[in-house]
Amino acid sequence: MRSTKEDIVRSFQTAYKNTPAWEIGRPQREIIMLETAGEIHGRILDVGCGTGDNTLYLAQQGYEVFGIDVASAAVDKARKKATVRHVKGLFIVHDALSLDTLGIKFDTIVDSGLFHVFSNHARLKFVQSIRSSLRVRGTYLMLCFSEHEPDGWGPRRVTQEEIIDSFSEGFKINYIREAIFETNRPQRNVKAWLASMKRI
Ligand code: SAH
Repeated sequence: MRSTKEDIVRSFQTAYKNTPAWEIGRPQREIIMLETAGEIHGRILDVGCGTGDNTLYLAQQGYEVFGIDVASAAVDKARKKATVRHVKGLFIVHDALSLDTLGIKFDTIVDSGLFHVFSNHARLKFVQSIRSSLRVRGTYLMLCFSEHEPDGWGPRRVTQEEIIDSFSEGFKINYIREAIFETNRPQRNVKAWLASMKRI
């Protein structure tokens, strides 16, 4: 049986009552490396921002950045972190499957741990949604669990081929690299893909 959008929102709302595996209290190392390498530019969207550590890190680097998440519990936590850290972060409760209705275009979209949440069906919608809110030649940077991470817990694993298939139209794939997704679980560092796509 396919999970409805309400089921998914409910499960994330519940996860945020505690500290979920991905809430590490600091930006993901790969996001810091991307910023340091100069791969992030212009107006930024952190899609599926969770409690905002990546968003707030980018805001602290001086970028104009928006964080959106479908779970209001995550956005509440993110806003509190922004206040405590004295950072101006703009967090909005919004569905990543309809980014066009935000009415804002972005130069860079960062995705830390959202792409691997979607079913095959939702993935198609998500890719269209990303394309609709990226400026032409804008960049989508995505970090997801890879098939090299043993199964048994966490989100679905994504193969390199699936990434290539998903972005075969409307995007040029700059690279797909082996990467690490940090968690607060005993496994800690999960095998991931870091992908960069240019909107054409
Ligand atoms: N980027 C964050 C959170 C990753 S977990 C981090 O690195 O810590 C995935 C996040 O995507 C969760 O916060 C979940 O609520 C959110 N999410 C799931 N489906 C979504 C959707 N359709 N639209 C927006 N956010 C969604």
